[in-house]
Amino acid sequence: MNTKYIFITGGVVSSLGKGIIAASLAKLLQSRGLRVTIQKFDPYINIDPGTLNPYEHGECFVTDDGTETDLDLGHYERFLGVPTSRASNVTTGKIYYTVITREREGAYLGKTVQIIPHITDEIKRRMTLLGKSGDYDVVITEIGGTVGDMESQPFIEAVRQLQWELPEEDFVSVHLTLVPFLNAAKELKTKPTQHSVQMLQQAGVHPDIIVCRTEHPLSEDIRRKVALFCNVKPGHVIQSLDAWSIYQVPLNMHEEHLDDLVIRKFQIENFEQPRLDGWRRFLDRLQNPRQETDIALVGKYVALQDAYKSILEAFVHAGASLETKVNVHPVLSETITSETAPELLKGMDGILVAPGFGSRGLEGKIEAVRYAREHGIPFLGICLGMQMCVVEFARNILGYPDADSTEVRPDTAHPVIDLMEEQKGLKEKGGTMRLGAYECELKEGSLARRIYGTDRISERHRHRYEFNPVYAGEMEEAGLRASGHNPGTGLVEIVEIQAHPFFIGVQFHPEYKSTPERPHPLFVSLISAAVGQRKNRK
Ligand code: GLN
Repeated sequence: MNTKYIFITGGVVSSLGKGIIAASLAKLLQSRGLRVTIQKFDPYINIDPGTLNPYEHGECFVTDDGTETDLDLGHYERFLGVPTSRASNVTTGKIYYTVITREREGAYLGKTVQIIPHITDEIKRRMTLLGKSGDYDVVITEIGGTVGDMESQPFIEAVRQLQWELPEEDFVSVHLTLVPFLNAAKELKTKPTQHSVQMLQQAGVHPDIIVCRTEHPLSEDIRRKVALFCNVKPGHVIQSLDAWSIYQVPLNMHEEHLDDLVIRKFQIENFEQPRLDGWRRFLDRLQNPRQETDIALVGKYVALQDAYKSILEAFVHAGASLETKVNVHPVLSETITSETAPELLKGMDGILVAPGFGSRGLEGKIEAVRYAREHGIPFLGICLGMQMCVVEFARNILGYPDADSTEVRPDTAHPVIDLMEEQKGLKEKGGTMRLGAYECELKEGSLARRIYGTDRISERHRHRYEFNPVYAGEMEEAGLRASGHNPGTGLVEIVEIQAHPFFIGVQFHPEYKSTPERPHPLFVSLISAAVGQRKNRK
């Protein structure tokens, strides 16, 4: 069988959840025995989102192979349970960079380098790259942005060309639109969808399937109307109603026959019925919790849900596995002081201090660590959160009041967190952190070892600073133990306090690897400890 390609575009407005529709379709096809992968093409000029503020673009997701990517790749991994890679996220910046580098090398000698064909050829090369590897039956490509945006035009043009270059049965175009409900008229309106599809067709792309995001069910009449005006069969207009959980969407899409329509167009024979038992079990536990727990999420980007996407999802997975509803309470780190901490963190069964960069809110993070340590509240610190455990301990237990990370105070007399050796002398900011998966050895008898149930793990990183090993002995003697190390370099990856019900800080990002079907052990054990804490309190 040839590799099959699905292209997903969006219209009317952004934030319709194209990533979730793409991931849901991928999940359904995977559950029917096909080898599926997803990739995202983003129309911005940054090479990757690594240098973007989370308030601009949400969380930056990191792959095993050390690429900083769009947060939709997190959804792809969580739904499919298979890792993505550097090939899975392409930006306009990457496309132009490749073409311009080639131009300087002389690859186009004598020719004028143009959007068509040079840019579109490079886009098409990347769109079909994973398909040519032979590893996948189906490659789903999500095009970021909205049809009609000036900046996404070369991507749409590349899809138009592929529509004719690929055999008809190897190409499916899905267009996601909004059918708004007008409260005053008590009516669903199809005009925005008609306009959006017209725009797509003017660009030469004909959608095979139109998925309509809607708050109310689409009547047969509405479906027929969309079909008539948009030039597709009525059965190819499907509804995507607001769902109670993003993880319910694959099941909703199956009920609407999205996967059946795709399989029919692809002329795939011998396909299986979807096997989604594990997924349904997860949803069942998520929907019917037996207990609940309150967790504080301490960070500086808490006003935007997407900034901590993977952490929030990891709580959902861990909570479901323990049939526990996890109420996550965002706490803005800069509001926490020794005076406000008791009020802001009162009643919390667990505290998570989030990753981050720069000095804003750092003192608040340190106070949150202190509050958790002194009050025996289950605690997980991630990346910057782990580094602040070390600073807090140095200040308040070792008695070095000026202890700090050199990220914020380069001239401190006690640099307990310091720039990694390989980072010294680096000038460029983009893509130069310690990124991607590294192995970590867990100490015998440690909390970390108990949590993971193994002595060697692999987790993903994104940082420049590290625990300064000069202080390791002193810290350990006073009760903060380094319990995980990189086997090659000896870098400290995990710290923990054994004389505490549950206190652990990790230099890596466990949240990137949590999925509904494989909740992350660190999150599961944090929730489990938090539930215990709640019972003790009562
Ligand atoms: N700013 C810290 C560092 O670069 C932590 C990074 C993070 O939390 N991802 O080491």
